[in-house]
This record gives sequence, C-alpha cells and structure tokens, in this order.
Amino acid sequence: MDFSVIKSNLIKKGYAVSVFETAESAAEYMAENIKNTTVGIGGSMTARQLGLYEKLSENNDVYWHWQLKEGQTSRQAYDGARNAAVYISSVNGIAETGEIINIDGSGNRVAETIYGHEKIYLVVGKNKIAPDFEKAMWRARNIASPKNAQRIGVATPCAAKGDKCYDCNSPGRICKAFLVFSYKPNMTNCEVILINEELGY
Ligand code: SF4
Repeated sequence: MDFSVIKSNLIKKGYAVSVFETAESAAEYMAENIKNTTVGIGGSMTARQLGLYEKLSENNDVYWHWQLKEGQTSRQAYDGARNAAVYISSVNGIAETGEIINIDGSGNRVAETIYGHEKIYLVVGKNKIAPDFEKAMWRARNIASPKNAQRIGVATPCAAKGDKCYDCNSPGRICKAFLVFSYKPNMTNCEVILINEELGY
C-alpha cells in the first residue's frame, strides 16, 4: 500500500509519522525508542499482535489491563496506564485525509490519547485506513465495533450477527464514547505508526 498521501496529511495535522512494512519491524522500532520509562497500553488487538507488552516489558514498567501482573487488579492496571509516561493505542478508523477515530465503551482509551502523557503512539494496520472521514467513521462503527463486540462476547445485535452496527440500546453496548481527532491536540506529542499489514479490527 502507498502511504504517501495519508502520511503527508497526518504530518500537516501535526503528527509524527513512521511507516513500516511489517508488524515485526514496527515493534522493533518501538522497543528501541521506548526504554526506561512507564508505559500504558489500551485495549488493542494490534498491540497484542505486535507483542508490545512482552517486548516493552524488557526495558520498561508496562501497564495493560489485558495482561495483569501477579497480584495486580484490573483497576491498578488501568490506573498505572493512566499515569504512565507513554501510552499506546490503536485506532478504529483513520482517513487518508488525516482524521483519526476511536470508539470506546469504558472511555479509558479515548481519554488517555487526548492529553496527559509525554508521548502517545497510535499503531495502525493498513486495514484501518479509509479514503475520507465519513468512510473511516463508517468503518469504525460497522466493522471495528461489531468485531470487538463479538470478541468481548457482549449481548448486542452486532455481536450476534457481526454484520453492522444497529445503534443499539443494549446494556452491553460498547460504543459509548466517540473520539475524533481532526488535528493533533496542542499538548499531545503523538506519533502514528503505519504498518503495511492487516492488524486488529
Ligand atoms: S452501538 Fe451497539 S450495535 Fe452498534 S456497534 Fe456498538 S454495540 Fe454494536
């Protein structure tokens, strides 16, 4: 895939951008650049596929509610991630025009990527990219969220069928907060890691 357009548009919007052919090379780059610090990771299949928890734990103190340390509670993992210097997330949709979209049920991932950490990494496989904002939002709502609902196993119509968003009123609805980055927020140092592989949902 040619990343030149999306890379150029993201840079215009204030992001640093790095492009990698493989998940492995992206993970190596991140492990090389993130050392001797604290790291939080949001719920992210992409982070899992890159093996970021294991790789970054070699030289950092990493907090991830999907990978609790011995004796650690889920709440402690969330709090550790919130207070970490570096925060890592994927996205649910990203437009070639540069807008970035995340949808969240708990709110931790959208909160952590806006403000407060020294550095944010958004790790993005090529399957998350759509031509424009409307299509990126459509993707986030109708592809990423139903697949995440199925993964979690919530009782929602999208999880039952896995075909689209029904804008449900289910108690298990996972789409409770929608975050759109039009531009990089002023006080957030954010790098987008684009990877030429299909990763996550
Ligand atoms: S709003 Fe409901 S139906 Fe739509 S993707 Fe989210 S959980 Fe599924």
